[in-house]
Amino acid sequence: MPPRASKATDPRSHPRWGRRLAAAVFAVGLTASLAPAAAAGGNGPDYNGHETINTSILHTYDELAAELEKQDARQEALELEVIGQSVKGRDLFLAKYVNDPANPTILFLTQQHGNEQLTTEGALEFIKHLGSARLGDTLEHVNVLIVPMLNPDGAMGDVDFSLDDYVASGDRHLTRYNAVGADLNRDHVDRVQPETRALHEKVLGAYEIDYMIDLHHQGTRSARDGQLVSGSILHPTTPEVDPDVLEGSKRLGAVVFDAVDSTGWGHLGKYAGGDATTISRNGVAVEYGISTLLFEMRGMSDHEYEPYVLGQKSNGYLRQQTLVTLEAAVQSIADGSIESADTSFWDTLAEQEWMPRDE
Ligand SMILES: [Zn+2]
Repeated sequence: MPPRASKATDPRSHPRWGRRLAAAVFAVGLTASLAPAAAAGGNGPDYNGHETINTSILHTYDELAAELEKQDARQEALELEVIGQSVKGRDLFLAKYVNDPANPTILFLTQQHGNEQLTTEGALEFIKHLGSARLGDTLEHVNVLIVPMLNPDGAMGDVDFSLDDYVASGDRHLTRYNAVGADLNRDHVDRVQPETRALHEKVLGAYEIDYMIDLHHQGTRSARDGQLVSGSILHPTTPEVDPDVLEGSKRLGAVVFDAVDSTGWGHLGKYAGGDATTISRNGVAVEYGISTLLFEMRGMSDHEYEPYVLGQKSNGYLRQQTLVTLEAAVQSIADGSIESADTSFWDTLAEQEWMPRDE
């Protein structure tokens, strides 16, 4: 999501914003007292000064690379490829399962924004699952491409700008932007940054890809139907996208929605997104005819704005949400059930809203 889109909507949680937005605070305060108490299920705690966020429990870039190499050595079906380097020279990886090029292909992309790491943690877990007997002969019917942690410099806080105001503690800070302060998910047309260039040249332009899920994290206070969400989804929304491609995106969204919703703890809203093609959800769908889906998990690993940062007690279910999403997508493509997925839920799925804290 945009870094500051909702900032003015919950100023009370951020001391530096309180005074300047006194009028807004008053308005929000009125709604807050009427807001329903947070329900159970997907509603883990957010940060808001209530607990320490320890980034040391997340994979560092080096640990990620080591795990990928370990799985590559263990799994015959896995081919690990370096598709380029980040600004600071870190190798960017593609984990590739291509059994038959004629099979349908899905791409999972994580951590274009470096502070949105649980998606990568889930993707790593998924790669381990693909190496087990758990998924049966699934990989004989679908090709799976995974680009984990496209923005390793941001993920490691190895950037040329100050992170002094970031709230997490631990070995490192994590930031949305890459080393030179660029937002990779606004760079899908110009492709100025080496990370986006690598993705387009070595992955998007190099394979016949049918589906893509772009995995992100959003703020902690989004709600649907009065209950905080565990995430939100959205298909391409630019008018330039081919209707068949859009329909594929909606079917992919239906598969993901059903899988997450049926867990009991998953609760998804519709993401409120724009139509710019600089964003992968739109740009990739238009340029390559790939049916894309944006998935925004709840809460970020680090940020300068407290209400965006999620308490780490929620890490487990969000990692699990990623896993559920990836497995459901892959299996529905492998067994063909995605072709008949019911997309009608999109007509009634409510756009998420910001829910003020109940203090
Ligand atoms: Zn993001």
